[in-house]
Amino acid sequence: MSTVNLSTITKSFGNVTAVNDLDLLIEEGEFFTFLGPSGCGKTTTLRMIAGFYYPTKGKVKFNEKDMTTVPPEKRNTGMVFQNYALFPHMTVFENVAFGLKVRKISKSDTKKRVLDVLKKVRLDQYMERQVSQLSGGQQQRVALARALVIEPDILLLDEPLSNLDARLRDEMRTEILRLQREYGITTIYVTHDQVEALTMSDRIAVFNHGVCQQIGTPTEIYNKPVNDFVAEFIGETTLLPISYEKTSGKELIFRSKTLGDFIYVKDTELNIATYDENDDLVMSIRPEAIQIDYNQITSEKNVFKGQVSLVQFTGASVHTYITVNEDVTIRTTDLNRGPSTYFKEGTEVSVYMPEDQIRVIPKA
Ligand code: ADP
Ligand code: MG
Repeated sequence: MSTVNLSTITKSFGNVTAVNDLDLLIEEGEFFTFLGPSGCGKTTTLRMIAGFYYPTKGKVKFNEKDMTTVPPEKRNTGMVFQNYALFPHMTVFENVAFGLKVRKISKSDTKKRVLDVLKKVRLDQYMERQVSQLSGGQQQRVALARALVIEPDILLLDEPLSNLDARLRDEMRTEILRLQREYGITTIYVTHDQVEALTMSDRIAVFNHGVCQQIGTPTEIYNKPVNDFVAEFIGETTLLPISYEKTSGKELIFRSKTLGDFIYVKDTELNIATYDENDDLVMSIRPEAIQIDYNQITSEKNVFKGQVSLVQFTGASVHTYITVNEDVTIRTTDLNRGPSTYFKEGTEVSVYMPEDQIRVIPKA
């Protein structure tokens, strides 16, 4: 087990800066996720940790040891690649044993360790199969076993589930988490999938254009996004431009141009003094936090009249889109409470955005 410490690392390829001045401390035994859209620098960062790339600037440390330019085979990291990178014509056993052979581990020890790890990933029955005869999910398990068998200090996983179908992805999420907890191994997981990040991680770093936007637990990232990029990338949200008007006790009052009205925000954590009427601000509200009703809602604040423009049934939940003030779309989500509770398209409704559910954030 090991901590991973990145201090102001930058990686440039010609004039492309793939990763820019990244600082990160990953704790021992932590399940840490790099989340962000394609091309934001996740793989490049992982490769600098594995040693496949050396940073242009900055340092990589495992525990307190400087690893910045140590070659990959001397780092004791186990890596799982997006395309698995297995040897298709070798058996499951041979694939998993490969790393031990390179490390000159004795035949009997190799056999024991490979068998142990194959049991852990539930593939011991398939030892003699050729990898090319396995399903995608089974190949994924072989890749995991191969990374784990060398008893790495750090496990690195680069979009390991992206080639699997939705049901299998769900199953493998739980499987990977179970293995990670069992081994207690420091794990860095790369994904562009917010559901994977939220459900699996102890902490998440959100990337955009090579820059880390926010580091936090899944609930911090979801409930307290630091800017509009994070708010929009993780989960669904309605973002509306606002300008600061005034403060009255613990209530902040903003003006929404698009809604043509005031927005009241109650948030004891807001640093009131930092707002200025010229700040470029947006408000973010999650769809599940918004209330809709046919009748007048009792609150005198943050209630807007609108018309249902779209109803989407997803099974467990129902998304209702409401058009307010001609062209502002507000999306709401409710648990499915049965057909009698669905709103019909075209219905006039009231929308209420609770004061303590609105997050005010600067534009990224
Ligand atoms: P992600 O894994 O988040 O999709 P990458 O780390 O692969 O993103 O890439 C980040 C940026 O760096 C992209 O603009 C990509 O084109 C560029 N890049 C990555 N690897 C190389 C390389 N070997 N040579 C040139 N550019 C690269
Ligand atoms: Mg990548």
